[in-house]
Amino acid sequence: MPATRTRKPAELEVEFVPASQPGQLLGLLQLTKGRTTGTYAVGELALDEPGRAFTLVKVSGGSDDDASGYVCKTTYGGNGLSCECRGWLRWGTPCRHLEALGQLIYKGAF
Ligand SMILES: [Zn+2]
Repeated sequence: MPATRTRKPAELEVEFVPASQPGQLLGLLQLTKGRTTGTYAVGELALDEPGRAFTLVKVSGGSDDDASGYVCKTTYGGNGLSCECRGWLRWGTPCRHLEALGQLIYKGAF
């Protein structure tokens, strides 16, 4: 039987620095959760269906050394959310990437 986690998950800290010039790069995103910090270059992908999709290209850090970045989709048709990170693929619950993008979209950052 798997161990029960009682530790409260660390809060996600989201920092976004918009790109100084308009273009494919929307800006730099820094995510900190517990002792892990990852910095990503954020771009947007065109979708031929309702919703928005973003590329997060890792600049440094992150929790998965094998990953160079992720494609994250939000409000993806009727299918909800998706991400390519290990956390999402394993658990299917909103990961730090989707959480951060959701916050930024809500705030109107992009
Ligand atoms: Zn993710």
